[in-house]
This record gives sequence, structure tokens and C-alpha cells, in this order.
Amino acid sequence: MLCKAVFIDIDDTLLDYIPCCREAFDAAMQEIRAMHHTDLTEDELFAIFFSISGRLFSEAKHGLHTVAEVMELYPQEFVDTIGYPDTSVEPFKQAFRANWGKTHTLVPGAKETLQALKQKGYRLFAASNSFGHLQRSRLQYAGLLPYFEDTYISMDIGYDKPDIRFYQEALRRCQLSPDEVVMVGDSMTTDILGAINAGLKAIYFNRRPQDTPSTADSNTTEYQEIQSLDLLVKIL
Ligand SMILES: [Mg+2]
Repeated sequence: MLCKAVFIDIDDTLLDYIPCCREAFDAAMQEIRAMHHTDLTEDELFAIFFSISGRLFSEAKHGLHTVAEVMELYPQEFVDTIGYPDTSVEPFKQAFRANWGKTHTLVPGAKETLQALKQKGYRLFAASNSFGHLQRSRLQYAGLLPYFEDTYISMDIGYDKPDIRFYQEALRRCQLSPDEVVMVGDSMTTDILGAINAGLKAIYFNRRPQDTPSTADSNTTEYQEIQSLDLLVKIL
């Protein structure tokens, strides 16, 4: 593939979202545990939390909320759902964020792939929907930050993926044209369709092909699909 740079999504592309989420959740729950009694187990509580945040993030992908709004909405909705007092929202939210910034479970092959792409001469940029300082902190803990020339995180950029303006602002910052860049990510909506709408090339990382059948149509060249990160080095 002819391109000079790679934009790479972070969650569920380089860092494993569910274990990271669970780790931050357990720490946040510990913070508010004593504020109310519940018979629900930690696993049951996490299932509720994960379903609420999942729904809100999915709504954000379709433009119903900004990612910044979701970050405020899900702690409140979670606390309301499990019947904890309103005074537990803020400590839960703060503890979740503080711990989220340290979570860094790697997707298999993440580091080796970045290393190999860098060696091949590609300019690498992270492209993620979240808080800039937290995502950079996570990449730092994971040992991935040094591979990136810059990080484009929605709350710094001012727009969330898949908004075309996210991609336009990122391209302006690295002084590249859309056809010089390929976007790699696990979300068909935010990463793949967003990038294609902005004129970039795209590679869909289908991490769970058993849940998501391959959607790459061999008759189109709109995007390519990989099911493990090491394949990226072979395509690029
Ligand atoms: Mg992702």
C-alpha cells in the first residue's frame, strides 16, 4: 500500500479495552463501596457498568452525544442504576479516570507491529476518541508512546471520530494529504467509514471475526481487513 503514515486507533486496536476497563472499574468501585449496601457481586456490577457505557459510546458513534458528554453520563447512570447515592458519582468518576490513565493491557503483537512499521519508515500517529492526557499516559505505561510522532486524541483535536473534521485537523497537524495516510482501527464506524469519508485509506482490524463476519468485499478496494496485528506489517 502506497502511503507515508499510519493513524492507529488505541482501544481494542493497541490496548485491550475490556481488561483495562475492568481494572479502572474495580478501583473506582472500591472508592464508593462503603457509601451504600448492595448484594450485587463485583462481576454483576461490572456487567451493568459495561452495558451502560457500551450503549452510550455506541450512541456517540452515531452522533447522539459527544465522547466528552459520555464521560459525564455513564458514571451518573451507573450510580443511579445500582441505587447508590448521588454523592458517589464524583468519587467514582475521578477514581475511574485516575486509574484508567494507568491501564495498559496490550493487544497481542501491538508493540512488535509498531516497531516493525517504524523500521519500515512509516510515520506513526495515534488517533483515538478520549482524553488526551489519559491516552498518552496509557501509551507511556504500555511502552508504546515512543513509537508515535504525535497523538491525535478527540478532546485535544476538538472533534470525535468519525467526524470528518477530526481527520482533517489531524492531517493539518502532520502536514500530510489524505491519500498519504492509512487509518487502522477496530471500529467500522469511527475508524473505517470516518477515514474513508475523509479520503484516507483504511484497514479494518476485525479482532473478533467469530462475532463479526468479514465485511471486506473483495470486489471493492475501499478498505482492507486484518484479523491480527502482525498482518499489518505484511500489507504495509
Ligand atoms: Mg477502538
